[in-house]
Amino acid sequence: MYALTLSPALYEQITDHCAASPQQEACGLLAGRGQRVERVLPITNVAANPATAYHMDEAELARVLPLLAQAGQDVLAVYHSHPDGSTRPSRIDIASWAFPDAAMMIVSPHTRRASAWRVQNEDVTPVEIMLGAQASPAVHPPSTFARAAIILSALLGGLAVLLIALALLPPAPPIP
Ligand SMILES: [Zn+2]
Repeated sequence: MYALTLSPALYEQITDHCAASPQQEACGLLAGRGQRVERVLPITNVAANPATAYHMDEAELARVLPLLAQAGQDVLAVYHSHPDGSTRPSRIDIASWAFPDAAMMIVSPHTRRASAWRVQNEDVTPVEIMLGAQASPAVHPPSTFARAAIILSALLGGLAVLLIALALLPPAPPIP
């Protein structure tokens, strides 16, 4: 089963983008690793009639795709909104789909609901959207090695203070 995992904050970023122009289709990329979305990249819709279609600005894509490759991220999904509120792919969406390895996410700009689909050779299957917490940096107690390093640096710090104190002592009086 293919699924997309993203944080509520990223999901909100997508629905905010779509809700900002409820009468026009908004579009963009979801990039990340595996099934986890790490980044939302809104792309300008340059379709002649953005009320009923979307066409991602190719100049923007050409600028953004190498940055994703550099970051080791893949395009996991392409999202767009439907001003009519439907979150199912239209016949044109399916026929013109150019990302067989990515999911198609469709957002209602009014209800802020979204659904995702896998479209391969005009075969459409649902993709689960899982809202997970943002991956937080793991907090571990310091390892033995880290503890040893902390103790050592404290000792070295003490030694440095001692050496500085010695250096600051007035020179010993010459022995007659
Ligand atoms: Zn559509």
